[in-house]
Amino acid sequence: MDAITNHMPTAELQALDAAHHMHPFTAQKDLAEKGARIITRANGVWLTDSEGNEMLDGMAGLWCVNIGYGRSELADAAARQMRELPYYNTFFQTSHVPAIALSAKLAELAPGDLNHVFFAGSGSEANDTNIRMVRHYWAMKGKPEKSIIISRKNAYHGSTMGAASLGGMVPMHEQGGLPIPDIHHIPQPNWWAEGGDISPEDFGFARAKELEKAIHELGEERVAAFIAEPVQGAGGVIVPPETYWPEIQRICDQYSILLIADEVICGFGRTGNWFGSQTMNIRPHIMTIAKGLSSGYAPIGGSIVCDEVANVIGQGEFNHGYTYSGHPVAASVALENLRILEEENVIGHVRDVAGPHLKEKWEALADHPLVGEAKICGMMASIALTPDKATRAAFAADAGTVGFICRERCFANNVVMRHVGDRMIISPPLVISTDEIDQLVERARRSLDECLEEVTQKGLL
Ligand code: PMP
Repeated sequence: MDAITNHMPTAELQALDAAHHMHPFTAQKDLAEKGARIITRANGVWLTDSEGNEMLDGMAGLWCVNIGYGRSELADAAARQMRELPYYNTFFQTSHVPAIALSAKLAELAPGDLNHVFFAGSGSEANDTNIRMVRHYWAMKGKPEKSIIISRKNAYHGSTMGAASLGGMVPMHEQGGLPIPDIHHIPQPNWWAEGGDISPEDFGFARAKELEKAIHELGEERVAAFIAEPVQGAGGVIVPPETYWPEIQRICDQYSILLIADEVICGFGRTGNWFGSQTMNIRPHIMTIAKGLSSGYAPIGGSIVCDEVANVIGQGEFNHGYTYSGHPVAASVALENLRILEEENVIGHVRDVAGPHLKEKWEALADHPLVGEAKICGMMASIALTPDKATRAAFAADAGTVGFICRERCFANNVVMRHVGDRMIISPPLVISTDEIDQLVERARRSLDECLEEVTQKGLL
């Protein structure tokens, strides 16, 4: 077979891709008909595809390329580490410098007494660690019956058996025999879709109270932990009303429920602080991390664990671990990424420059005829598409029909936005400039205009 390279014609690459590559979250049949978009290069916030199109990446890959593409310092860090020690494990009382340095750095950056890191290869793996860790914690405390983990409908926590069970995505539970036992889901704080006539504040408070209700129903002696994303990402960038998190924190404190903040998206600057937990003013016992930890340059995730949980777990052997827990190359890349985030004050840029600029431009989209609410937290944002702003109505067509049309218009206008049902979402690289933000929002508006035209023509309004 000829070497498969960037120089091959797109159609040939697409045919090979469809024949041999099984894609995540993709209808393979549709992909075979249409052909995948093949990304060949990237720099800053810009992607180049095999046809030479330049696209503004409004999603930072999958919410992960926080420092932007093309930072050769990370490539150098990887190459250095591969030459020195490409691999060694951290099992059985061994360690290596990259894992030591990264865990110490994360302990320094994480709030409160979150001083201990259990590494994984991804966010999903880290959440599987969390399930076993919190259940084992309570077992070690003589309460093995405290095994239920409460999560939320429309949450996303990953794709492994454990993580997808924690998640509240119905189409995921429908495949492969999920959820695993002792996972319970409460309703989400999505005021736009579910708030009816109540104010966002009252609704946020009521949705937090669902946690207390569930604890009473399930029995306090059975509940181990509550897990949630500070801002739901894959569920549609659902920014909770301000009343939500304070009440959740109060309930976790009152009933001694461990709080797990899934920071896979919110962590490493996305919300304008190092962690979403700081933005939401909560005190988790465990934070799940991945994505922005290495800005996606190397696969790495983990759990940052508080003193109490780590000390109890540490009294015995935790029979858990991954070949790539603390992988030296991934850890070195992550360290270099954290250095850049810190030394270049990327989080300050989000908080003081890019975040406020994007907020102003993004919220202005709410005047578009198709747009209901426009929500934003730091550098993650969403707009709800609706045929009727006043009633917050859904379209008569299947959920996602209009969102998909809009997404396709975005691609045609060389801006990557995603749709979750009929919500459009963005999560650009944190280093995006104000000029690039203007281009992003201008292309988004143009795509909305074209979407409105198409939706009107097709009689979907
Ligand atoms: N948690 C959250 C909040 C996520 O958004 C994701 C991925 N989108 C995950 C966990 C899973 O991470 P991974 O895909 O690295 O397994």
